[in-house]
Amino acid sequence: MESPDQPVLRDIVLIGGGHSHVGVLRHFAMNPMPGVRLTLICRDTHTPYSGMLPGYIAGHYGYDDVHIDLSKLAEFAGARFYRDEAVGLDRTNKRIQCRGRPDVPYDLVSINIGSTPQMQSVTGAADHAVPVKPIHRFNHRWESILAHLEGHEGPFRVAVVGAGAGGVELTLAMQYRLRKELVARGRDPDRLSFHLFNSSPQILPTHNATVRQHFRRVLRERGVEVHTNTRVESIEQRSLVTASGDHHEADEILWVTQAGGAEWLGNTGLALDEHGFILVGDTLQTETDPEVFAAGDIATMANHPREKAGVFAVRQGKPLARNLARAVRGKALKPYRPQKQWLALISTGDQYAVASRGPIGFAGAWVWRWKDWIDRRFMEKFNELPAMAEDSTEDPSHGVALNKEEAQQAISAVAMRCGGCGAKVGSTVLSRALNQLQPIERDDILVGLHAPDDAAVVKVPPGMAMVHTVDFFRAFLDDPYVFGQVAANHSLGDLFAMGAEAQSATAVATVPYGLESKTEDVVYQMMAGAVEVLNDAGCALVGGHTGEGRELALGFAANGFIDPDTVMSKGGMRAGEVLILTKPVGTGTLFAAHPRLSARGRWIDAALESMLVSNRLAAQCLHEHGSKACTDVTGFGLLGHLVEMTRPSGVDAELDLGSIPVLPGAEETANSGILSSLQPANVRLRRAIRNQEEAVSHPRYPLVFDPQTAGGLLASVPADQAEACVRALKALGYTETAIIGRVTEQGEALEPIVLNT
Ligand SMILES: Cc1cc2nc3c(=O)[nH]c(=O)nc-3n(C[C@H](O)[C@H](O)[C@H](O)COP(=O)(O)OP(=O)(O)OC[C@H]3O[C@@H](n4cnc5c(N)ncnc54)[C@H](O)[C@@H]3O)c2cc1C
Repeated sequence: MESPDQPVLRDIVLIGGGHSHVGVLRHFAMNPMPGVRLTLICRDTHTPYSGMLPGYIAGHYGYDDVHIDLSKLAEFAGARFYRDEAVGLDRTNKRIQCRGRPDVPYDLVSINIGSTPQMQSVTGAADHAVPVKPIHRFNHRWESILAHLEGHEGPFRVAVVGAGAGGVELTLAMQYRLRKELVARGRDPDRLSFHLFNSSPQILPTHNATVRQHFRRVLRERGVEVHTNTRVESIEQRSLVTASGDHHEADEILWVTQAGGAEWLGNTGLALDEHGFILVGDTLQTETDPEVFAAGDIATMANHPREKAGVFAVRQGKPLARNLARAVRGKALKPYRPQKQWLALISTGDQYAVASRGPIGFAGAWVWRWKDWIDRRFMEKFNELPAMAEDSTEDPSHGVALNKEEAQQAISAVAMRCGGCGAKVGSTVLSRALNQLQPIERDDILVGLHAPDDAAVVKVPPGMAMVHTVDFFRAFLDDPYVFGQVAANHSLGDLFAMGAEAQSATAVATVPYGLESKTEDVVYQMMAGAVEVLNDAGCALVGGHTGEGRELALGFAANGFIDPDTVMSKGGMRAGEVLILTKPVGTGTLFAAHPRLSARGRWIDAALESMLVSNRLAAQCLHEHGSKACTDVTGFGLLGHLVEMTRPSGVDAELDLGSIPVLPGAEETANSGILSSLQPANVRLRRAIRNQEEAVSHPRYPLVFDPQTAGGLLASVPADQAEACVRALKALGYTETAIIGRVTEQGEALEPIVLNT
């Protein structure tokens, strides 16, 4: 996360976590630039390293061997990671449009999004062929190809369109793996056949004759039928149609031919080449706009055009990072010239590879071992992250090129800040940020944001009671938009747990000091996320207070209505009822592990996904199934909240540790001793456990104390309703819902809870 002591002066935004940007992130991690905030926008959390992809398909590597964890790498680099897809660039206002969040402003932006298969020119290709790019999607399709083969009887034909290095390598890797899978299942591998189609007369047209000869021999020996001079003109379901009108049947068709630039780049006004790739100069700045950089497959160096290959994308990482750093300091950029010849190590799937460099070509099992060593060493740089350098500068501008007004704001941002009302965020900044929001309006809000006053005035319908709650917490992730969503969802949880309908909320926030434009954007992003969740819940944002502070923080005082006769209270449990939990636990340990670089990106993704699920429908469902006792599991953890229920209800309870749903990775991080700072306080409640000695060695034991953010509902329901209730909750999208125990009569023992192991 950003250091709270350094105001943000400039934003460098990286679009795409490709091979160049991973190098940029690593460079900035090792050479931090105070005052410069890095943001990575990428639709994937784990980005594949293309050099090892054929080895992964062949089954020589596992998923994490061949993927770079962008969430971890960004955390290591102190960069914000926005998991999203860029879909546009508004260069006039210097904002990036994304598919699932408000626009992201930038001072400098760099694009490294790889290439997109150009399938639209071939009829049916988009519907019936599997593109190998983007590789992340191919990964999923690969799993379904494996499943397809498993369920298939009789001959199985695989066609690959494109016989460049990627197509040839992929064909051989797939053949090796699929045959192995069939043998392992005791089935005949010879029912598999492979067909490689190429429009040109040669396979591997950009490589030398020796390399081509090697591959022609390997393909022949492996029984792959090569169709050169065969242009595929259209694709139908399960067949390819060539230019000469021939039909070739195929159970799976893979598309590995020439790719182009993403369609949205056409609307950016950036100069593109004939394939839609961005034209860049020697400094990697686009030809059109010096504040927009590009690298990797998506960029074409106008003065040094090269083949689209990962090796060039990797090499561009360092000069790109240096030039971004120089540009932000207002210094002259340095030109970069890519090498003319490059070493390609192309594998044949069976732990054998062919080396190709200019006119040189040689092959062997040792070449594969060499490739494997190079690739693993490359991946180590991103997966085994070294210690970071310290910041030493005292200059509030940190060498960043600022105009006069910005320089003044930078000095003021690090100067002593006022407390009391002086700590409020300036009204212009606030109103500019808040004016962009569109909170819902309700008839029962008499005075709210639509008619701002000293306080909001709301009506309570006759016969209804008002429910009040408040929550507030520091940001636990560097994405203000998602943080805003989680904070709002968490705050509404208390209302829903009572069975109330949310009506109105006031926000209280602190934002770190900094340039006005940066503060305004953080307020806007955070509140945009929050308002989205409040609006979804029918809850009107009616006011708030925003102050300056060291760290980003947000909370809500939320109000709701309830029919006093239908309240689900903590004290409503009855012996004989069954305990239901609607969401998995583990957010505390996972978000303790994240800044320590000990949580995988996909674990954090899953935790965030769970935190964004509203408890609203779950509460209704529990109520409909007879629940009179419900609470949302938050800071005190599952056990703490359960004890809060058993005490006023005058009952005991049994928890089945093995049935408690747990977020991916949470058991792993908790059992390696990475726990929330609140855990020790929660663990004091172990005195409520009757059989503590027996339970303590269970892998889920630490998780009963794990504090949750936006956790699920814990409720007791009549035993005869429990199964139906779980089914209904799952159908509503609470897929991890589980029966985790039961309510028992209060016994003689002082400890009310038994943990079944
Ligand atoms: C089977 C196969 C094998 C290959 N083997 C080799 C090899 O051994 N050596 C070699 O040098 N080259 C190889 N290549 C070529 C290589 O894959 C590419 O040249 C390389 O991946 C390009 O890297 P990149 O950084 O430009 O983009 P990519 O690696 O494609 O990365 C782009 C990233 O940007 C993200 N992204 C895309 N669009 C958006 C968006 N709109 N918003 C946010 N994020 C976005 C993607 O999710 C991805 O994480 C191979 C290709 C294939 C198909």
